[in-house]
Formats: sequence, C-alpha cells, structure tokens
Amino acid sequence: LPSPFTEALPILIKLIDAGFEAYFVGGCVRDFLLKRTINDVDIATSATPAEVTSLFENTVEVGIDHGTVMVIYKGKGFEVTTFRSEGTYSDFRRPDEVSFVLSLEEDLKRRDFTINAMAMTVDLSLIDLFEGRADLKRKQIATVGEAAERFGEDALRMLRGARFSAQLHFSIDDKTKEAMKQHAPLLKHVAVERKRMEMDKLLAGSASEKGLSYLLETGLVRHLPFFPLSAHIIKEISDMDLEALSIDQRWSLLSILFIVEDTEAFLKEWRLSNKRIAYIKKLTELYHLRALEDWEPYRVYHAGESISLETEMLYSVIHHQPADKSKIQEIWEALPIKDKSELDVNGRDLVSWSGRKSGRWVGDALQKIERAVIEKELLNDKIEIKKWVKQWLQK
Ligand code: ATP
Ligand code: MG
Repeated sequence: LPSPFTEALPILIKLIDAGFEAYFVGGCVRDFLLKRTINDVDIATSATPAEVTSLFENTVEVGIDHGTVMVIYKGKGFEVTTFRSEGTYSDFRRPDEVSFVLSLEEDLKRRDFTINAMAMTVDLSLIDLFEGRADLKRKQIATVGEAAERFGEDALRMLRGARFSAQLHFSIDDKTKEAMKQHAPLLKHVAVERKRMEMDKLLAGSASEKGLSYLLETGLVRHLPFFPLSAHIIKEISDMDLEALSIDQRWSLLSILFIVEDTEAFLKEWRLSNKRIAYIKKLTELYHLRALEDWEPYRVYHAGESISLETEMLYSVIHHQPADKSKIQEIWEALPIKDKSELDVNGRDLVSWSGRKSGRWVGDALQKIERAVIEKELLNDKIEIKKWVKQWLQK
C-alpha cells in the first residue's frame, strides 16, 4: 500500500470506530489503481465537520462551508470531507445504513468524471458505481451522468477534462467531447483563478500537447483568457521534449510561441502571482537575449547563475539541442565578484575622491565600475578603481 494511504489509515479507522463511515475517495483512488504517485489522500465521511473536529486533536477548518476539515496527523494534513451532493449536504446526520449508502452514492455522483468518482474502503475494496475502473482501462475521460448537464452545473469541468487528458494521456469520450464543444462558451463565467489552476496542471502534464489539442478541438481556447493557440503551435510543442521544464518555464515557452509582446500583461490576464510573473518575464527576456547571442559574463552576473541555467534549458528545448550548462557554470565560477556588495568601493568613496556633491552620477559610476570589473577591464581593488575613476572624471 502506498505510504499516503498508510499514513491516512488511522484517521479512517478512528472515524469508523466512532460509528461513522469513512472512505478514500477521488484522485487518490484513481492514482492508486493507475499505480501513479498519489498527490493527496482525500477522505469522505458521514461525520459532520463538527463531529470530525471534535474527534481529532489537531484540525484546521479549511472549508467548513464545503464540509471540509483538515485533520493534522503526525505532522501531515488530510482533507476529510462530509458526504455531500451538488450544492447542499444530503442527510449526513442520519446514521442508518440505508441513508448512508445513499449519501456516499450522492457524494460520488456529484463528482466530475467516472475515473474520479470511485471510493475505497479501509480494507481496500473498491466502490465503483459509474464504471470508473472500466474507463481507466479504456484510458478514457467521461463525465458521471449526462455530460451536457454536468458542464452546465460547473463549466470548469470541461477544462478539467482536458487537464486530466494531459496528466494521464487519456482520451476524452466522444459524448463528453461533443458536450464540451457545445458548452465551451459557458467557460466565460468561470473565475480566472480556477481556470489558471487547471491550466497549470494541464501544462505540467506529461501529455500537455494532448490537453492543448483538446482545448483547440473543442473551442475551449476561445473562452479562456488570452491564449492564441493554433495547430501549428501544438505541433511545435509536440516535437519538443518538455520533460525537464518546470510549469513556469512552460508558461514562458507559451509566451515565446504565442509571440506575446507584453509577457507581463499576458500573465496578469491569467492572474498568476506577481512573484511568478516576475520570474517568467525575466526568463522570457533572457531567452530572447540568448537567442540573439551566446552567454557572456555580464549577462550571467546580472541574471544570476540559476535563472541563466533555467533559460539555457528552455533555449535548448525550443531549439532541439543539448543544454550547455557548463558554459554558464564556467562563466559564473570565473566572475571576479558575484554581487555588487563585493565591489571594493562604495558611493562614499566616489564622493570623497571627486570632491563633488552626491547625486545620480554616483550610481551611474558604480554601475560602470561594476561592469568594468565583471568584464575584467578593471581589477576589483580600491587603488585601481580610484585611478580608473579619476581618469573617468577627467573625461
Ligand atoms: P490531483 O491529483 O491533481 O489533485 P484530483 O482528482 O485530486 O487530482 P482535485 O482537483 O484535487 O483533483 O479534486 C479532488 C476530487 O474532487 C476529484 O477527484 C473529483 O472527484 C472532485 N472534484 C474536484 N473538482 C470538481 C468539480 N469541479 N466538479 C466535480 N467534482 C470535482
Ligand atoms: Mg487532489
């Protein structure tokens, strides 16, 4: 049994001992059956959030409105969610078996895809009411119930469908796909943040080109934030080996392939965090510089070693050539200083040598010195720098 399950098992047992029902549900059951790495173990129970909270010592109320309580056990958090159906909870207070079975059934019925709608008991028997396992075998994504109806309830599910195809290398079932084509415009109503979370997962998928193809084929792309995808771009991506690229490197790749003029505006539209935007923007700028000319010391110094290496990796993927890490590493190692603070001179020195008042020129001069030191035109030595500055001031 994979460790996430073993770690969560005592929580299920405790719930069951207290007279409640408890199951592993959703993605973890799917990934267990596929022998994939399990992300997080989700637990569904007949206990109410209040009952879960009182039963365990350490809990966090993460989504009490949605019936979710995070149980912290041995330093790890597990989401325990009360059986619920679409919108309202169904009868979770009733302890009798019949209503319980009904509740689990309701809970599974509200889930998006058959492969995500299975439950597993503590003794690992599978509860599969909607042919989830058969769809796993068929490598197929199909909604639980009528696709059109399910997408009408929550349009994000269409994007999730493409996302799972990108993660699992699965195909989307024909009826489900037809409903996606028909209901694609509904995606407009979904919050960008939710779309972004699915797009992150789609892009990170090992079959991201498959997910992207579905976005294009179903017309979902037209109802996303700026995303000028084309068959040509998908072909380019399929020909690249993206495996080594992080999600943010992949966003940068998109920005390059989409020939985006303003990467920041593009990513803002997708509501990425400012931190991510700053990184991706930098990466993209460095990529374009790299495409113009090979690495040189001042650029590596200015950017830093790690993002230079990450840029080189992106460049190598796009240009189908091996990444030349050693060049950057050698440049980095050979730099006389790694940071401005290591300069053997500061603004006060400049002011006192010049006899001038402080001003903008000081920063400009320091920058010139920094550059000259990096390019080894000038030694990082106070006396040498002083001579250099005096000459420069005379000009
Ligand atoms: P991952 O490994 O990426 O976390 P996951 O299957 O756990 O995949 P989540 O987004 O974490 O996906 O959702 C957990 C479960 O909740 C799903 O497996 C599914 O059963 C259900 N679910 C999530 N979002 C929806 C939705 N929009 N509509 C219906 N069911 C959903
Ligand atoms: Mg999950």
